[in-house]
Amino acid sequence: MEQLSENQIAALSSFVDTERFSTGISNRELHLHDISAHRGVLPAGIIWPVSTHEIAEIMTYTYEQDIPLTPWGAGTSTEGNPVPTRGGLVMDLTRMDKILEIRPQDLQADVQPGVLRKELNRQAGSHGLFFPPDPGADATIGGMIANNASGVQTVRYGATRDYVMRLTVVLPSGQVIHTGCRANKSSSGYDLTRLFVGSEGTLGVVTEATLRLTGIPSHHLAATVTFTKLEHASKAVALMMGAGLDPAALELLTPELIGLMNREKDLGLPEVPSLFCEFHGISEAALRETATVAEELCSDCGATGFRSGVAENERRDLWRARHEAWETIHRAHPGKETLIVDAAIPISRYPGMVIFSQTLLKEQGAVGYVFGHAGDGNLHVVLVGAPDNQEEWSVLEHINEKIVARAVELGGTCTGEHGVGIGKRKFMELEHGRSYQLMRQIKELIDPKELLNPGKIF
Ligand SMILES: Cc1cc2nc3c(=O)[nH]c(=O)nc-3n(C[C@H](O)[C@H](O)[C@H](O)COP(=O)(O)OP(=O)(O)OC[C@H]3O[C@@H](n4cnc5c(N)ncnc54)[C@H](O)[C@@H]3O)c2cc1C
Repeated sequence: MEQLSENQIAALSSFVDTERFSTGISNRELHLHDISAHRGVLPAGIIWPVSTHEIAEIMTYTYEQDIPLTPWGAGTSTEGNPVPTRGGLVMDLTRMDKILEIRPQDLQADVQPGVLRKELNRQAGSHGLFFPPDPGADATIGGMIANNASGVQTVRYGATRDYVMRLTVVLPSGQVIHTGCRANKSSSGYDLTRLFVGSEGTLGVVTEATLRLTGIPSHHLAATVTFTKLEHASKAVALMMGAGLDPAALELLTPELIGLMNREKDLGLPEVPSLFCEFHGISEAALRETATVAEELCSDCGATGFRSGVAENERRDLWRARHEAWETIHRAHPGKETLIVDAAIPISRYPGMVIFSQTLLKEQGAVGYVFGHAGDGNLHVVLVGAPDNQEEWSVLEHINEKIVARAVELGGTCTGEHGVGIGKRKFMELEHGRSYQLMRQIKELIDPKELLNPGKIF
């Protein structure tokens, strides 16, 4: 649906201020793609609501009129998650950007969905608190809830799911519901909050959330560890996790990626298999002890260097470079797109999986970079190619399929954090079997007309 009728335009315009509804081509094109190579169907209009009431009115109308509706956060997804597949209306939530209340004594914040993660952390920081889930991008809270986003600190602090206590959601037909509560525990009925977390905007639009916050750690220590072999590095990961060192971040990087990072950011890092680690604790003495144990374990696995106590500015540079890995890869291959593998597996299987992926890349002669949130078994392979070059792109698809099939075989998942979107739909049956049917039934129950973010997950 690339066009709205005049009546529909008039009705939609009546729900919001004039400048918050647009049928202009540039706004529509801006909401046609996220960072992936997936392309959708040009939406007929974009609407920027500012309240739950406006959203309920808009959705009641679009449902009556059979207009497909796709929620949109910051558009930083990697699988086409917010890309409209049937045109219609895109609902851009970025103007609902108010932090409604921070309650430091309860370690909680009430926020609108368009609040950006970094802004929440800036404001929570003045109370000594933070919201730990940290995808590299400055995503909206609504987009993070919808994708159940996580990141480098998930190994210690958990994913977005672990921080969502209560939601206000507008269902596809316009009905407003509240899920969860502000108590730290509850055994009251089905956990509907968790049903909406990770549902990628296919079941409802989140219009308000109560989030759990946590205290900013008083001390942190960063370390870089080098190895001659990738399997040694990934074995060290399993060992450190098994020893209960509880790292706040434990990232694996391969020489090819470090090479790109050095060239772009002048980091001067040895271009060998490496781990970036970070530990959080209550005192420097405790952290020094942790680092000593980590160093011993790494050297047992064949580490050639262990550098701890990295200075604050260097630590910041390292993490920024890691967070910007995807952009760095993209810039190093102008004119190409990326296909991102996001498999996750039990950590004991991580070393084998890393080798499996590296070997596959070599065998297929493809350009790709292996790295990942090793501490929680999440492996990324950023594959580089041109989607309009059928031959080249199908090799990348083949690699993706092989890695996912292996991950599922090992008891893992096709997506550790990026969500299903368009790109991972084809793996859902394989991964979930009959449960996938139940997911479909839940979707049919809540959205019988399949109008909310259609073409995603299913
Ligand atoms: C450089 C880079 C690094 C990244 N690293 C990570 C990482 O380490 N970990 C990780 O998890 N992700 C990562 N991502 C992916 C991305 O940042 C996250 O998935 C993020 O949660 C997307 O949020 P967004 O605000 O951009 O949402 P969008 O991309 O706009 O939307 C995401 C999904 O949420 C839905 N949605 C948006 N708002 C709402 C709402 N209010 N109610 C209901 N549904 C809604 C959309 O329809 C869509 O399905 C990275 C992205 C980039 C560009």
